[in-house]
Amino acid sequence: MTKIEKKYQTAINDLIIYLKNSKFLTDERVESALHHIPRHEFVPESELEYAYNNEPLPIMKNQTISQPGVVTRMTEWLDVKDGQKILEVGTGSGWQSAILSYLVGSGSIYSIERHPELVKFAQENLKKLNIDNVHVILGDGSIGYPKESPYDRIIITAACSEIPLPVLDQLKENGLILAPVGDSSQSLVLLQKTSKGIVEIKNQSKYVFVPLHGKFGKK
Ligand code: SAM
Repeated sequence: MTKIEKKYQTAINDLIIYLKNSKFLTDERVESALHHIPRHEFVPESELEYAYNNEPLPIMKNQTISQPGVVTRMTEWLDVKDGQKILEVGTGSGWQSAILSYLVGSGSIYSIERHPELVKFAQENLKKLNIDNVHVILGDGSIGYPKESPYDRIIITAACSEIPLPVLDQLKENGLILAPVGDSSQSLVLLQKTSKGIVEIKNQSKYVFVPLHGKFGKK
């Protein structure tokens, strides 16, 4: 773990207290990930002073690093286990990938991003923390990443009108997939692939994400 400056340590602790009080953070492993994966390493310099506010922040190409409370909730719903292989669609800053990488331990993350500038930004951010189990790939995540499929978990971090079928196909049996689904506002939808078909595990409304583009993204 890199040594974290005292001013950031205090801000991380304050954010964690806020997230716990507002029930966006309930899992001790995810709390530990927040300590080990400092968000200020994933925001542009101009946004550093806001890194521990519970709000999305601009990164580049009109995209955002997601709000901490949304990242902790999505991470908890995904119920990640050691050794798993995870597909993330929408790398952005790489912060969500880094948190997942901490939780999978010996496992690995394949994260797809459509903007080359963000692929580079995320790779640089991950390198600062010596994270080597996240593979950031330039491409259209709306078709998934069949080369490394099937995945134990899939997380889509951009708004889709419906979960793209090619991505769903790349999920293992008993695997979980989580995505924000909807148009002007989205519901976080958690599905499980079972031997009998797809089962909805959780659904919660009133989230707002940037859109998923690409072949199976927003028209
Ligand atoms: N999880 C990110 C983080 O921790 O910073 C935030 C992701 S941001 C809300 C959504 C990302 O999805 C953006 O970086 C955007 O460029 C990307 N995106 C949108 N459509 C995509 C597609 N078809 N393929 C890959 N990435 C896509």
